[in-house]
Amino acid sequence: MHTFSPTPDTPKRRAIRELPDELISQIAAGEVVERPASVVRELLDNALDAGARHITVRLAAGGVRLISIEDDGMGISPDELPTALKRHATSKISNLTELESVGTMGFRGEALAAINSIAETTLLSREANQPTAFFLDGRTGELRPGARGVGTTVEVKELFFSVPARRKFLKTDATELAHCLESVRRHALARPDVAFTVWHDGKLIEQWRSHPGPEGLAQRLGDVLGEDFLENSVPVDHKLGPVHVTGRAGVPDIARSRADHQFAYVNGRFVRDKVITHAARSAYEDVLHGQRQPVYVLYVSVEPTRVDVNVHPTKIEVRFRDGREVHQAVRHAVENALAAPRAGQAGVPVSTLSLPSAAIESPSGTDGRSFGPVSTYKPFEQFRPRQATMDLGASRHAVEELRMLWAPDGPGAKEAPAFRSEAAPAFSTSTEAPDTAPVDEKTPAWTQQAQQDDAADLGAQREWPMGRAIAQLHGVYILAENHAGLIVVDMHAAHERIVYERLKHQLDGATIASQPLLIPATFAATPHEVATAEACADVLARLGLDIAPFSPKTLAVRAVPRSLASGDAVELARSVLAELSQHDASTVVERAQHELLATMACHGAVRANRRLTHEEMNALLRQMEATERSDQCNHGRPTWRQLTMRELDGLFMRGR
Ligand code: ADP
Ligand code: MG
Repeated sequence: MHTFSPTPDTPKRRAIRELPDELISQIAAGEVVERPASVVRELLDNALDAGARHITVRLAAGGVRLISIEDDGMGISPDELPTALKRHATSKISNLTELESVGTMGFRGEALAAINSIAETTLLSREANQPTAFFLDGRTGELRPGARGVGTTVEVKELFFSVPARRKFLKTDATELAHCLESVRRHALARPDVAFTVWHDGKLIEQWRSHPGPEGLAQRLGDVLGEDFLENSVPVDHKLGPVHVTGRAGVPDIARSRADHQFAYVNGRFVRDKVITHAARSAYEDVLHGQRQPVYVLYVSVEPTRVDVNVHPTKIEVRFRDGREVHQAVRHAVENALAAPRAGQAGVPVSTLSLPSAAIESPSGTDGRSFGPVSTYKPFEQFRPRQATMDLGASRHAVEELRMLWAPDGPGAKEAPAFRSEAAPAFSTSTEAPDTAPVDEKTPAWTQQAQQDDAADLGAQREWPMGRAIAQLHGVYILAENHAGLIVVDMHAAHERIVYERLKHQLDGATIASQPLLIPATFAATPHEVATAEACADVLARLGLDIAPFSPKTLAVRAVPRSLASGDAVELARSVLAELSQHDASTVVERAQHELLATMACHGAVRANRRLTHEEMNALLRQMEATERSDQCNHGRPTWRQLTMRELDGLFMRGR
């Protein structure tokens, strides 16, 4: 057995020689082709670049035995077929300027050569206006007429047959197949206008029709990710400077334990990009806690000159000229999409939601707040903070605020759509109280009104998406009736969110109160940490932190936020510096503030087992409708659920 020795014998001098072409391609294949899915990716890129509208993928044994990709694109002329398999042969760019503004998926001209060097590759292609197709055997170079319609079929057999060492790295057929499918999925989500069909071992396993037009994206998202994703996601459409972000963001309820449903595209190219991933994740920070991974499909459009796609052999990574600009755009885009309270949309069927098109300019009216009477709620305006320069450390003030918020005549009650009990419509009273029943003074106001208003019910119901409170259950839940059925609200969780959002608004721009440490805590710091501490002294001060160089290799923490005074100062300093060096300062400041506020909000929110009056319950419902992110508590759990009439009927087997 060979054992690796870190101190090898003195190496023998060998002559410097140019590598043979074949070997160069095999080396390039090491970067480009990791597994069958990589071949699928490259061939799909080529088919899309050729303008294909229908693509058929045929696989055998997870793609190891066979990958065949058939397209109806522009085809390759017979005299160019051999060139297509050559190293660095491409039709997509011819000079550096073109590279800087490249709009095609491929441009390096190495995929086919690399694939041909590690697998049996054949091309069958027919150009438009040509009477026949031509076939090229990549091994032997044999070129002969063949039969097929306009377009190209590339067949790749026995991947790594000549490189058994690499074949050993392949997993089971099922795993390789899953990777191949993921590859097709990524392309399919980018191009709803193209039809995709996938066969495996002779069985049809996926078929996604083409959906041209602006509604196409929604349909493709539904096809590929399931209707569940469509129903539980919100449209994203946001332009910030030169960056336009569209797509859909899953609500926290459908977050997953793995980050396997996160699709990000830059100018139509699927990418794994740290800037985008981090921006999206931080947009969820406030509604998704712990290790849960959000689900999203985001399309980032930027001018081609603002992004370098030539930084990775498989082009799965890109480099932005201004990462911050992209970070901000993505973060705001997702944040805005998630912030609109879905509580304001209870019972609105998903079919009435429109989606942004993949096109750069998407039609207006695609944002989640823009349909029906719901649009009369303006969360931001209703909760515009009073200009408060509240000291965060003085939690006494905070609790005061909470009380005011809760009081029916407090600011919350005033700013939320006014609760007028007599206007509350009631669905059920018409059966409880027959038309002939005398309406006397003792009948509660809302019941009387309901009898008169029966006909006008629907409009009024819609006005309050979260409905009218009907009862409190075991001091924990509020039951409310809306036009779709029954709503159950976790009252503590909901109130906690309302309080938290309110505090956040009030704190905008304020500084966190800091407390000096009696004995500064020093720690051995990296040069990078020292540099960050010096460069970000201002930001640190806003956070209530004082971290200063003590020696070239030591930092001293001299003050920490008052509310965190009992914690580990060094650990806090380290994590804040790490964040600051990676991300833009505003994110860090916000996050730190928000964590403190969340703790305060939890203490301030109405406790379980407190009896609420109908008025209080209704006020809470109205506040939920008007508060951003009110669908999740500060810990990311849902605050309310809708049980539709249909679901209730199902429980009682009604109408079956
Ligand atoms: P690249 O895509 O970077 O140009 P490839 O090695 O993938 O490099 O392909 C080489 C060339 O072969 C392409 O530039 C294109 O002209 C041609 N080609 C490859 N696949 C197809 C296809 N499916 N349809 C038409 N032309 C193709
Ligand atoms: Mg290519």
